[in-house]
Amino acid sequence: MEIKYNKEIWYVISVLVLIAGVSSTMVSLSPKLSNKYESPMIIITLTLSIINMLMIIRIAVINPGTLIKMTNPPEEPVRIIEVFGNTILLKTCSTCNIIKPPRAHHCKICNVCIDRRDHHCHWVANCIGRNNHRMFIFLLFFLVVQCVFTIGNSIYMIAWIVTDTGLYIIESVLIAIGVLCLWHIGGLLIYHTFLIFTNQTTYEHKKTVFPSGNPFYKSFFKNCTLFWKMVPEENIKEQKPESPAGETQTNNIP
Ligand SMILES: [Zn+2]
Ligand SMILES: [Zn+2]
Repeated sequence: MEIKYNKEIWYVISVLVLIAGVSSTMVSLSPKLSNKYESPMIIITLTLSIINMLMIIRIAVINPGTLIKMTNPPEEPVRIIEVFGNTILLKTCSTCNIIKPPRAHHCKICNVCIDRRDHHCHWVANCIGRNNHRMFIFLLFFLVVQCVFTIGNSIYMIAWIVTDTGLYIIESVLIAIGVLCLWHIGGLLIYHTFLIFTNQTTYEHKKTVFPSGNPFYKSFFKNCTLFWKMVPEENIKEQKPESPAGETQTNNIP
């Protein structure tokens, strides 16, 4: 899938420019360090920057899980499936004319249904869905690492290396950028870790899609495994738990 050449492309470019600007500033100031620290600092800075920039581009261009639109609506507007012993009602998307699989939702920005849609991220100009959610988590993690490294390096420079006012201001700006980014990206990483542990998507959590309990929730370990494997829910075969009352929970997913 190509990047949609709308205004969101500028979000992606601004993030790439910010990463490139911060890393090139750090590398240009690295000769101030002793020989012992200069090379490792340059290698770590460039490695983190390249990894993050490549991941941003990859997440931006990858197909997040677009479901193919149909010209005519399905004959049956709803379908009932069973996942983890829960009966789930699937509805038709009136725009795409398809019965949405469990956890698929229509994105108004992309104007398509996305499989296991989490949210639409302006910073990568793409939806986060089944195909790119894992890489999105890796991106958040490595961006947090880069923020912590940038802040730590700049504090070290200010405390022991830098003596003139100009460099002091530059390092202070790097710390400010690092703290600001860490505050937002770190918070996002913590939130998404919570979602992984509880087997939810951002959409499901924010919209309270399951007011009577998340039908996809399993154990902590199984939730993490399911996120890693990204198996489509309708393909998950699991024995129905024995219920003495014979009750089944019906979930009406919007
Ligand atoms: Zn749709
Ligand atoms: Zn989208």
